[in-house]
Amino acid sequence: MRTMSVIVTVFLLIGSFVFASAPAHAAPKGVVILQYHHVGDDTPRVTSLTADELRAQLQHLEDNNFQVISMPDAVAAIKGKGELPDKAVVLTFDDGWRNVYEQGVPILREFNMPYTIFVNPALMEETPRLYMTWDQLREVAAEGATIANHSNSHDHMTWRRDGESESQWRQRMMNDIEGAQELLEKELGEQPRLFAYPYGEYNPALETILEDLGYIAFGQHSGPWGEHSPLTGVPRFPASGNYASVEGLRAKLTSLPLPVTEVANKNMILDPQETKPKLTATVDSTDDFYRSSMQCFIGGEVVKPEWDGKTFSVQASAAINIGRSRYNCTVPSISAGGRYYWYSQPWVRPNEQGRWPD
Ligand SMILES: [Zn+2]
Repeated sequence: MRTMSVIVTVFLLIGSFVFASAPAHAAPKGVVILQYHHVGDDTPRVTSLTADELRAQLQHLEDNNFQVISMPDAVAAIKGKGELPDKAVVLTFDDGWRNVYEQGVPILREFNMPYTIFVNPALMEETPRLYMTWDQLREVAAEGATIANHSNSHDHMTWRRDGESESQWRQRMMNDIEGAQELLEKELGEQPRLFAYPYGEYNPALETILEDLGYIAFGQHSGPWGEHSPLTGVPRFPASGNYASVEGLRAKLTSLPLPVTEVANKNMILDPQETKPKLTATVDSTDDFYRSSMQCFIGGEVVKPEWDGKTFSVQASAAINIGRSRYNCTVPSISAGGRYYWYSQPWVRPNEQGRWPD
């Protein structure tokens, strides 16, 4: 009996030693960015969460040792110029609505958590009653908030106007982005070059413009931000509307970046006849998950991807809807119990006229 328990003890010791000293399969670190728009109960539900829901989310972050860091700190860490804490979370608000100042900021102050607001300076000046004022933005910036660029116009940026050439479109985009940054800096002083795409929509030409202008650019497709995420297409988890509950956020907050290094289709904006887009992506390692356990969520459907070495592909079985949609793929980590790798591919299916709803 005694011998048996000694053997078991030795076995457990060896076991814990092996686990403690086996970083080869350690899960990669990432940053979970949460994305909000309105805070309130009298704005469109799909882009809103109530003050109570925001408070519940922040309480959950605090109670579960998530490290809420500022966007500039997250950028530095992803670029290898700082230490990235485990369970790092960044909070972002798009559009700079007045209700964020009135109902969200007091709660954010209570929890003493940093956050970023992406604003549209031209729209702020056009309809001031809807948006935070420059004074309010200066006030929260002085308290540690980051104020960043969401374009001047909040247009569907990839849409070309009638008769507009490629180079005219390019010039209009540069003016839209740089014009907003100039207004921001005139009012607030020099600001980091961080850009959130209106509606989360972009194409390779727009990514090139932002990269050339020195911006890091954020989308609205889900997934944590990892070292392999393109800096012109950083994912964020929507955390409003149907996604506002703490229960729904749990798996997302602990998600790990799937190490995708190559994607076959680089343009989320599809041709009108491309109704069942195929996602083909390559990962740099499959060591920390079982390929057969990956599931992709397409509309209401769960699809198993096909694997060929380190490359997987997945496709909808029926035409996707006109407008924005996503394929979300997840697979459990072997080394980090209960945590999932997560990767999201956004798509936009246009109508025959090349347009789609907001
Ligand atoms: Zn927006």
